[in-house]
Amino acid sequence: MIAAAGIKITKVETSKLQGLVLENLPFGRYFTDHMLEADYENGAWTNIEIKPYQPLLLDPSTAALHYGQAIFEGIKAYAYANGKASIFRPYDNLSRFNISAERMCMPVVPEEIFIEGMRTLIELDKNWIPSLPEHSLYIRPFMFATDTVIGVKPSAKYKFMILLSPTGPYYAAPMKIYVEETYTRAAPGGVGFAKNAGNYAGSMLATELAKKQGYDQVLWTDAFEHKYLQEVGTMNVFFIIGNRAITPSLEDGTILAGVTRDSAMVVLKEMGLDVIERKISIDELLEAYQSGLLREVFGTGTAATISMIKELRYKEDTMYFDTDKSEIARELKSRLNAIRDGHAADTHGWMYMI
Ligand SMILES: *Cc1c(COP(=O)(O)O)cnc(C)c1O
Repeated sequence: MIAAAGIKITKVETSKLQGLVLENLPFGRYFTDHMLEADYENGAWTNIEIKPYQPLLLDPSTAALHYGQAIFEGIKAYAYANGKASIFRPYDNLSRFNISAERMCMPVVPEEIFIEGMRTLIELDKNWIPSLPEHSLYIRPFMFATDTVIGVKPSAKYKFMILLSPTGPYYAAPMKIYVEETYTRAAPGGVGFAKNAGNYAGSMLATELAKKQGYDQVLWTDAFEHKYLQEVGTMNVFFIIGNRAITPSLEDGTILAGVTRDSAMVVLKEMGLDVIERKISIDELLEAYQSGLLREVFGTGTAATISMIKELRYKEDTMYFDTDKSEIARELKSRLNAIRDGHAADTHGWMYMI
């Protein structure tokens, strides 16, 4: 069978769904029946195929395994109120994917493969979208270098894939956060704004060390002074100070431009807050805390949507937040959820119907 965008489709004989209950599924552990695969060779994308989910056979010299030309995205599809399925802002992920691709010297992936491939794949596996509240289908597009030569240069060949994983509810317990002053996630001129695999590998040690001390994640600070706040773990961060919602600005390329971050800025404005993107230092944050103005701190990202922070430790100081009273984070999360499952009007055109 060949679908609209020239995608070859091979279906499974029996679905793995039989006997599996799509409820309380741990994040990223179960995958649907099918996956999408496409190859980039001789300057063009070919072999665009949806087939049964299966292992890859890779040559040990596969370039991505050695030099890390590998990028990914994270998107969610929801069972929508009208009985259809919908994807949250997939075109924003497509543009970010291609920004990451350019930074890592990789080819861009066209809409016909990224969006149309995703749509066709989800249509095929639509029975895998959990319809319970706060459940969703997590979509993982990714690309990696497939040259089989050990030599440092941009690969001439790549593989693009999409996997689907039913998930939820993602219970995001309020977090204890350690303000990181030794390790750095991103510096100007680096790759902090790209969703490349290495950013994650590079962040793991600091997180593990923080966990040993009883914290859940670190709050990353700038590479020069370790004072300006960047992101919390692998999420963007928001500070509610008085009636202002402040989030670190993107301009020096050290921060991932989250789709949830952008959506949160829009919704927080609708909630009547002054939304401000700018540099913000830990000293300013401590001052706001000490004067009683710092009300809430939370992270935003596709996996958890909003993660509240209950403790923020910087040197000898710890800031405490009563997350039972975090009205803004809670209201923001419920407004975003309502848009995504169709219980609130999609006034921004964020939902892509399948
Ligand atoms: C993916 C990611 C985010 C969140 O982006 P969303 O589009 O909101 O999911 C934030 N920070 C980092 C480092 C990320 O990789």
